[in-house]
Amino acid sequence: MQKITILGSTGSIGTSTLDVIARHPDKFQVIALTAHRQVDLLFQQCQRFKPEYAVLLEEEAAIQLRGRLDDASLATEVLSGVAALEQVSALTEVDAVMAAIVGAAGLQPTLAAARAGKKILLANKEVLVMAGNVFMDAVRTSGSTLLPIDSEHNAIYQALPSGYDGNPAVHGVRRILLTASGGPFHNSPLSELHNVTPEQACAHPNWVMGRKISVDSATMMNKGLEVIEAHWLFGASADDIQVVVHPQSVIHSLVEYVDGSVLAQLGNPDMRTPIAYGLSYPERIDSGVASLDLFKVATLNFVAPDFDRFPCLDLAYQALRASGTAPAVLNAANEVAVAAFLDKQISFLDIPRVIASALDALPVNTVTCLDDVLNADIETRQLALEIISKLVVGKAHHTIKHAAIK
Ligand code: NAD
Ligand code: MG
Repeated sequence: MQKITILGSTGSIGTSTLDVIARHPDKFQVIALTAHRQVDLLFQQCQRFKPEYAVLLEEEAAIQLRGRLDDASLATEVLSGVAALEQVSALTEVDAVMAAIVGAAGLQPTLAAARAGKKILLANKEVLVMAGNVFMDAVRTSGSTLLPIDSEHNAIYQALPSGYDGNPAVHGVRRILLTASGGPFHNSPLSELHNVTPEQACAHPNWVMGRKISVDSATMMNKGLEVIEAHWLFGASADDIQVVVHPQSVIHSLVEYVDGSVLAQLGNPDMRTPIAYGLSYPERIDSGVASLDLFKVATLNFVAPDFDRFPCLDLAYQALRASGTAPAVLNAANEVAVAAFLDKQISFLDIPRVIASALDALPVNTVTCLDDVLNADIETRQLALEIISKLVVGKAHHTIKHAAIK
């Protein structure tokens, strides 16, 4: 029986993980579930999976959940705060941690799991983008098993030889081919992108996901973050990671070897496949995903990414090449910009502008410990908010002037 903590159990990855776990009650036991503040859903999950612990980030939400669980005579202990998220990631009895919090908020709890030597199922790519060397050092030192859940990285993991140790040359790996759907605006005229709404940006053609990653997919920052993620997971340099736009999302990524062989992993676009792979590794279990119908798919297309249309992808490559704190700056500026876009403060095309301004303004420092990353994160968030308020004020002036001229 594998004992599991799910960080971010109420999200898209979290609920898919519970869906797979529910199919195998003989194999998995849920020890802890965590969420930001979704009391209703976390309560339902506690009723169904009876974890020992439930953690909410906010104490007010935790008080509500405690009341609901008491009324239902359920014995789950409710905790709150970041320290509690770290605590349930490092419990002695826990074997595996699904890291499925979105964004920088997942860094410390996921790092706690790495330091405690847990098997880590990593969906929370921002952890590697922000703190790749700190996190990978913790994994190596503790002897953690790190299994990528991001579908592309899971595909690459499956296409690499077993025992791959992060050195492409030693294993005859020439290149990593990272596939991208291109998102909902891949074929939209550039002139229309200015007016894109959060609802349009979140309507992904192939995947149903949380709002932040949906916007990232629309800007292609998601692919940029994934290039950096692939660098840390597989030891490939920026030059050896090629993004390939493949709108059907059937090939989840490929590995090219020096002899010319190219190995791919295919499947329906359903995150339960990589989640089941991670949960049962090195065995295979049923995930509930339907068979891939190649006759229905019929055609697979591939095109080169358009860096002019998607400047975020280029910014991510630049940040990876600059290394040090640059990827943490990229990530923090992106998180703040995406939140402002979802809040309708800035336009879709302002997202890369905010990130580029932050990267230009801030120095690239070396990262030797977690604090270096956290400091860059805090400083960037502050700066990104200032850049956004200037943009908003600028636009308000423009609108007033425009109205006056009319
Ligand atoms: P989501 O928004 O659906 O869920 C996020 C989860 O994190 C929720 O349970 C939420 O309560 C929790 N959370 C949010 N902010 C928090 C905070 N400050 N403190 C503690 N908990 C917090 O997101 P998602 O789509 O499930 O994505 C989760 C992660 O997995 C992201 O890093 C994303 O990039 C990655 N990922 C997702 C998919 C996908 O298909 N959804 C695919 C690949 C990778
Ligand atoms: Mg992905």
